[in-house]
Amino acid sequence: MHLDKITQAFRQRFPGEEHYDLRQRQTPDVLYALVKTETFPKAELLDFNQELARSIGLGTLENSRDRDFLNCNYIPDSIQTYATAYAGHQFGNWAGQLGDGRAIFAGEIQGKDANRTELQWKGVGATPYSRSADGRAVLRSTIREYLMGEAMHFLGVPTSRSLSLSKSGESVLRDKQYSGNVKPETGAFMMRTAKSFLRFGHLELLAAQGRDDLVKMVVDYSIELDFDLPSSSEKDRYLQWFTQVVHRTADLVVHWYRVGFTHGVLNTDNMSLLGLTLDYGPFSMLDEYDLSFTPNTTDLPGRRYAFGEQARIAQWNLWQLANSIAPLVEEHEKLQEVLDGFSTYFWQKHDQMLANKFGLDALREGDQALFEQWQDFMQDTKADYTLFFTCLEEYEGTMNSASHFQRALYQPLSQEQNSKLEAFLKVYEQRKASSTISPSDSLQLMQITNPKFIVRNYLLYECIEGLEKGDRSLYDQLKLALGTPYENTFGELNVRRPQGYEGTFGSSMLSCSS
Ligand code: AMP
Ligand code: MG
Repeated sequence: MHLDKITQAFRQRFPGEEHYDLRQRQTPDVLYALVKTETFPKAELLDFNQELARSIGLGTLENSRDRDFLNCNYIPDSIQTYATAYAGHQFGNWAGQLGDGRAIFAGEIQGKDANRTELQWKGVGATPYSRSADGRAVLRSTIREYLMGEAMHFLGVPTSRSLSLSKSGESVLRDKQYSGNVKPETGAFMMRTAKSFLRFGHLELLAAQGRDDLVKMVVDYSIELDFDLPSSSEKDRYLQWFTQVVHRTADLVVHWYRVGFTHGVLNTDNMSLLGLTLDYGPFSMLDEYDLSFTPNTTDLPGRRYAFGEQARIAQWNLWQLANSIAPLVEEHEKLQEVLDGFSTYFWQKHDQMLANKFGLDALREGDQALFEQWQDFMQDTKADYTLFFTCLEEYEGTMNSASHFQRALYQPLSQEQNSKLEAFLKVYEQRKASSTISPSDSLQLMQITNPKFIVRNYLLYECIEGLEKGDRSLYDQLKLALGTPYENTFGELNVRRPQGYEGTFGSSMLSCSS
């Protein structure tokens, strides 16, 4: 691997603590602190993403030094590892300084055509931002993040990606269910990548410290990295940037609704300034369609981060971001207007996305009623979100609808529910008949919009159980399947969650303990 191509542009550009001090503490007026990673003499590399390594300019894994680097046992002299400081609103409340508690940066890899990708380990030790935690990670959560980051990438959803997965060779103490029952678990860590790991929380921290100069520096940096602003006038620059962040965030949430993803912890510190999915914790793909579904046990009382709440929460988070950058924008009413524009933009994109899922030629007036009829059926029957669309693609008007859709049902339909399905299909068929595109184009649109394979939580659960026992067959199979999610190749994986997993901890319910 070309470890010599790893640069430290971020660290060199911003003020930071250029000395090692691992005491957990507040670090005002800096964006990062140097951190020494732990070493892991008994580490074992479980996976390495060749294709990603090549595409970002890191090259191939060639020797034991490369392996030691991924396993965090060798750091070239040119790299000074660091963790960044950020703040955030957690479950709607200001949480003050947080920061990379167990993510440690190696720097950025400079690829071809000025592409640059940030590299960080997750789980290789404590930082000044770990608060009282240990900076480690367990195998179960690391596998979940490793596989899901890649699955989202192949689904076409903006996301951080997964470069390598290691067992740490140590055990880690965790209270998995937050029930007072602490147990040793298999320790692990990963390397993950993103164009940038900048979060809303980075700006919230600097704004709370009154460092508008640093807020400006970070926004300028993000613009250089990834934003193409139409006008460069100083006055409009930050408003234009914010508009694009609003649009990217809305686009991201539309993707989540398209594939049925619930993040589970949409705190502002988990929100990417670039519109990427970040920090895979107690997430879940939908099995049953349910707008109030939350996989996160900590979220159960209020269901703030439920599937159906994600757009509203994203806008709430953008409001916090707007507050942080307000000093950079002269006309605050315009900032408010952009923020208010989130809903119109989001719903337009969302409805277009639904029209694509249904294979409609365009979004027409009246389609709204069709969508509502469908949603009422789904919410009422809790049918499987992904399988419903698989069945719909294969549906022909002459079929017996109840038996055709049985594959997507967790419970048999009542008579009333059956009538709802038939009524919906009738309206749907009529709508399609008036479509200006051919049935085959319509089908193709559905096929590229609706995934066939999704990484369901029960599959992750079984895969983790296997790997904990040294059996990686399901892991390898999931990795293959997630690479072609729009193809129906792995039929045995494209099924409803089996019975018995309804309330299983680690599958249907997850905590933030990781
Ligand atoms: P999360 O809910 O995973 O986004 O984490 C919230 C904050 O807690 C972040 O600042 C994390 O870095 C930190 N954190 C979570 N788990 C640990 C851990 N085991 N050690 C250190 N920091 C952690
Ligand atoms: Mg986080």
